[in-house]
Amino acid sequence: MYQYSAKGAAASLRTLSVDGAAPTASLDEALGRLLDLACHLLDAPMALVWILDVAQTPRLHAAQGFTGEAPTCPSAFCEAVLKTGTVLVIDDVQARPALARDPVLVAAGARFGAGALIALEGRPAGVLALLDTRPRTLSPSQQQTLLRLARIAADEQSLSRQAAAEHESRYRAYFEQSAEGIWSYAFVPPVPTSLPINEQIQRAYESARLTECNDAMARMYGFESAADLAADDLARRVPPYAEGNFEAVKAFFEAGYRATEVETLEYDRYGNARCFSNNVVGIIEDGHMVCVWGSQTDITERWWAEDALRKSEQLLSSINQNISEAIYRSTPSGDLLYANDAMAWMFGYDTVDEMMDGHVIRFYRDPKRRDELTARTEKEHGFKHEEVEFVRKDGSTFWGLISCNVTLNDDGAIVTYDGAISDITQRKRYEQSLIKAKEQALELARLKSAFVADMSHEIRTPLTSIMGFAHILAEEAPKKHRELAQLIRQSGKSLVQTLKSVLDLTRLEGHTFEPNAERFDATELARQVLDLFRLQAQQRNLDLTLTAPDEPLTVWLDAGALSRILTNLVSNAMKFTSEGQVAVILEAVTSEEGGEMLEIRVEDTGAGISEDFMPSVFSEFRQETDSLAPDANGSGLGLAITKRLVALLGGTIAVESEKGRGSVFTVRLPRGEDFGF
Ligand code: ADP
Repeated sequence: MYQYSAKGAAASLRTLSVDGAAPTASLDEALGRLLDLACHLLDAPMALVWILDVAQTPRLHAAQGFTGEAPTCPSAFCEAVLKTGTVLVIDDVQARPALARDPVLVAAGARFGAGALIALEGRPAGVLALLDTRPRTLSPSQQQTLLRLARIAADEQSLSRQAAAEHESRYRAYFEQSAEGIWSYAFVPPVPTSLPINEQIQRAYESARLTECNDAMARMYGFESAADLAADDLARRVPPYAEGNFEAVKAFFEAGYRATEVETLEYDRYGNARCFSNNVVGIIEDGHMVCVWGSQTDITERWWAEDALRKSEQLLSSINQNISEAIYRSTPSGDLLYANDAMAWMFGYDTVDEMMDGHVIRFYRDPKRRDELTARTEKEHGFKHEEVEFVRKDGSTFWGLISCNVTLNDDGAIVTYDGAISDITQRKRYEQSLIKAKEQALELARLKSAFVADMSHEIRTPLTSIMGFAHILAEEAPKKHRELAQLIRQSGKSLVQTLKSVLDLTRLEGHTFEPNAERFDATELARQVLDLFRLQAQQRNLDLTLTAPDEPLTVWLDAGALSRILTNLVSNAMKFTSEGQVAVILEAVTSEEGGEMLEIRVEDTGAGISEDFMPSVFSEFRQETDSLAPDANGSGLGLAITKRLVALLGGTIAVESEKGRGSVFTVRLPRGEDFGF
């Protein structure tokens, strides 16, 4: 605890302390009664008591019999009694010129004066005096009475000092143990209350010195004890530039030098901002504020929390006003409570206020849609991303994507719907145009497929006749023309094949081909396909092999499609291999996802595929020009058809190849859910 010697402040503090009782007041009352007795016993019209203060200056404490106020100025008569040390009797002051001018005696109109020393513990403590307007004297027994009365005054004073000491110690206990910071500032010089308030504030800042504070206050600033804050100034503690401080101080002055729960923003010894709630009272003496006394509690945590809340509210409101989504809050009965600017804009209103009136149902093109969403909100406490056609102020409509949450009261009942709407008109338009484009594309593909089917029929009919006549010619024409007729037949055959492929591809592209799943043994099917190539292999001296598990490889697939896939791959392998072998390997494998798969590998030791051509190998009408194939005629459609068929059966196809060394085509197909039954 630190105590700076501030007379006025300390005295005021005591006067304002805990129980509010002022010990000096009861002393003055007792002295008043004593003077009354003295006047009565010693037959004098006036009596006075001076008590020495801490500076040993006599202060008038009580007066009896005066008409008007007894003067409080220094008294020569009082000084003379203090000097004698016992009793001083002046029969007629006129005979003593120094005393005749004493302003107290003059004010009393006194000719006679008698005073006795009040002594406490052997030391002068004051003077008890009798005055009379006429000259007279005191008998020795009367002088004894006066001395006794002075002793009683001394007793009264000693009792009063004890009470004051007790009072002080109680105040000290409170002061030291309080969790609140308690402080006082003295103004040296005091601040005249007659000045304009802004000037008073300026003077107060200039002249305030911390006179007393407790350790609790020092700890609020990060110090250990009150001594660390010695003689601190107000400007350092409550900097007037910090937000709100000047206003807080001004409010204190304007409210008559009092303030309760006024908040100040201050800084601790490390420069951290702290917020305090203060109760302050100013002590005014003779038209001057001599000191302020106050208590403070640290509300920094609360202040931070409130500040954070304030900032997040600001952020929220700034987001609400700046985003393009509409944000709203409405009641379950359909009244709009809040809408942001974007909402007003989206619905074609000039201001938010303008759109607040009326039921929200007017925003829905189909009121049943709102009823449906309300029912869902009641049941599920919200919904997400629902498409709704809304109505603008001018009656035009737009598509919005709406999401909604609810807030509940303590009983779990819905209080508000809180939602957001984004305008998806553009997206909707785009989606609709895409759907339209897809429908058109499908229709075109259907038309194309029908056209190709018609055309191929139209071409095939005369082609059949051409090939028939070529056959007859090959049999019957002279030998030199037979070869030509044979060529016509072969070209016709190849043309029929191409036509067939074009037709298949068109069907696959037009999605008119529906796979027809059936249960069969894939090994058996592969054997049948390979049998078609046996003769050719023999003639060309190629090794054609089939490797498959011993047990049947049952699958649930479209047999025609699988046969076509195998035929295409084996025919290519045969076509592009001049020596070596063509091997077909069938295996049951498990996919990464755990599905049962049929794996078919067609390996050859033929021409291989160059790296450059690899990306085009499955494209329509693409053939490698420098192919080493001995019999490279074809349409470039086989692999394109194969790839589509594999995809149709839910499988994958891959190729590995090295130019001049051969190729491996790997097909993986799901064996079908029901393959085992
Ligand atoms: P086509 O065989 O009728 O030309 P495909 O679509 O079946 O058409 O094949 C496209 C091209 O891919 C072939 O022309 C050839 O260049 C290449 N190709 C396909 N299979 C093989 C293979 N096993 N070995 C080497 N090249 C191949």
